[in-house]
Amino acid sequence: MTAPLLSVENLSVSYATRSSVTHALRNASFTLGRERLGVVGESGSGKSTMGRALLGLIPRPGIVTADRMDFAGQSLLQARDSDWQKLRGRRMSMIMQDPKYSLNPVRRIGDQIAETCLLHLGSSRKEAERRALAMLEAVKIRDPDTVFRQYPHQLSGGMGQRAMIAMMLVAEPDLLIADEPTSALDVTVQNEVLRILDDLVQKRGMGLIFISHNLAIVSSFCDRVLIMYGGRILEQIAAKDLAKAQHPYTRALLAAAPSLDQPRDTLATVVRDPAWLE
Ligand code: ATP
Ligand code: MG
Repeated sequence: MTAPLLSVENLSVSYATRSSVTHALRNASFTLGRERLGVVGESGSGKSTMGRALLGLIPRPGIVTADRMDFAGQSLLQARDSDWQKLRGRRMSMIMQDPKYSLNPVRRIGDQIAETCLLHLGSSRKEAERRALAMLEAVKIRDPDTVFRQYPHQLSGGMGQRAMIAMMLVAEPDLLIADEPTSALDVTVQNEVLRILDDLVQKRGMGLIFISHNLAIVSSFCDRVLIMYGGRILEQIAAKDLAKAQHPYTRALLAAAPSLDQPRDTLATVVRDPAWLE
């Protein structure tokens, strides 16, 4: 059996202030192959923190510890700044929850995407621009030639999100962490973005970590799902078995999801057990 793309053991992230410590991620252990791994859990459960830790992007004063964090045979725990620079954007990328923070406000969209190709793929300027334009087309931006020359503030939220997705995918990374990548998109564009991500997994063998609040999308789109609560991975389950999950928190999340098939007057409240964090 070949080694997984990503192998994580006991990854923890904490933020200490003078008076308290926030355990944003507690002893997360999982592996990722060339597959679609969904991550669900309520707000504050540590999903984005886990994604950022995997890319070495936890800001000070955050403290990251792990027994193992291997990516494609390389230990990320030993990675220096120069190693991260070679990895991030080229071999591993993250579509951030809010595109506003990922696009440079004073540079044209096309230049930002082309720069990734210049920097990481060593393309010529002409080739980089060609790839950038092709990627804008691939994420179904309607008038890619115009958007290529525009600045981020000239785009709508959904367009900005698609431009950012184009920027993250243009170097064809081996690992993509997508943090709520479709939340600002309408349903048809959402499906198109999912199709692009799926293509990259199927055809190029990319590994995808797909963070979402939408249990219906995760159960139909992903292969496996991690369920998080209070910084812990409570359960790992095949996506097709999500509806049959046994953990009381997962059951509560499923019960709290609104459904068009079975409208209810009141949604169930999630009752939490402190033992889940032990
Ligand atoms: P959401 O669904 O709302 O995006 P999430 O599951 O992505 O939530 P995280 O953003 O990972 O949650 O946050 C997990 C915990 O870590 C939260 O309690 C949050 O307050 C804390 N946290 C995150 N970043 C910092 C920081 N820079 N300093 C202190 N605490 C932080
Ligand atoms: Mg988040």
